[in-house]
Amino acid sequence: MTTTCASMGIINEQLAIIQPLASGWYAPYVATVAMLRLDMIHPTISGNKWYKLRYNLQLAREQGYRTILTFGGAYSNHLVAAAAAAKEYGLQSIGVVRGVHTTAERTDTLKDCSRYGMQLVFASREEYARKTDAIWLQAMAEQYDNPYIIPEGGANEQGVKGAADITKLIPIDYTHICVSAGTGTTLAGLRQALPTEQAVIGFVPMKQGSYLVNELIPYLSPKQNINWQLYDKWHFGGFGKWNDELIDFMNDFNNSNNIPLDMVYTAKMMYGVCQLLAEGYFAKQARVLCVHTGGLQGNVSIADRLAY
Ligand SMILES: *Cc1c(COP(=O)(O)O)cnc(C)c1O
Repeated sequence: MTTTCASMGIINEQLAIIQPLASGWYAPYVATVAMLRLDMIHPTISGNKWYKLRYNLQLAREQGYRTILTFGGAYSNHLVAAAAAAKEYGLQSIGVVRGVHTTAERTDTLKDCSRYGMQLVFASREEYARKTDAIWLQAMAEQYDNPYIIPEGGANEQGVKGAADITKLIPIDYTHICVSAGTGTTLAGLRQALPTEQAVIGFVPMKQGSYLVNELIPYLSPKQNINWQLYDKWHFGGFGKWNDELIDFMNDFNNSNNIPLDMVYTAKMMYGVCQLLAEGYFAKQARVLCVHTGGLQGNVSIADRLAY
């Protein structure tokens, strides 16, 4: 195994350009809306997932672990990113999958995980619900090579620390930074590291997602715990749910801006941004930067509906 592996070589951060949207999309409401294209940094380890994983994988290696174990659903961007990144780091990976899927029922996401060498362990929903229970985790650790355990979504201190690195790509002259929030780990890293004059707005793609506020606060130092908020109204029926209106929005958005969105996270965020623009939420001189957190691998399940 090579020792010079790749903590920088895995992804290409230079591809994470800031792309202004077509002015017709935001005029006359604000000065600019642009997207930070984290979806470009790697074909599989896209967007924010890399940032949330990198310090976890680094630590796992430094502490002499051979294996990582993490969690996700059958469409999880985190799981496939973890599988790919672990492989790059020369670590074995185990993915605990929510729900039992026979071989015939494997999603493309799960097939990709296997392709990257991840060993999949299927857990019933009841079992999976114990994913943060110390006793269950201990039993899993004994069964699977005493792995370094990364929580679902990379939601831990290392994840927040990695997400904070995203702010190095964010210029100071943007007044509002928009991001989709699943576990909220990425948002926490952004809020923790951005100057407090820059507002951070999170868009939660699930119903009643504002409970996340309480999950996020522990990651924020008191002085950073200002000028951020969460919207949970643009969920389109719940996590992973979509309808014709959202699909039309995605196709229109790509037509206007040549930027593909994913249906689980970034499409709902941009739909929300569009609503906030029309409601006059932003001042006219606002400069809005939306973080494209990737997730495009998940679009294969609706490929026949998308014009891209
Ligand atoms: C995982 C994911 C998110 C959510 O990130 P959190 O740090 O869990 O809030 C947002 N967007 C995309 C595309 C994702 O894959």
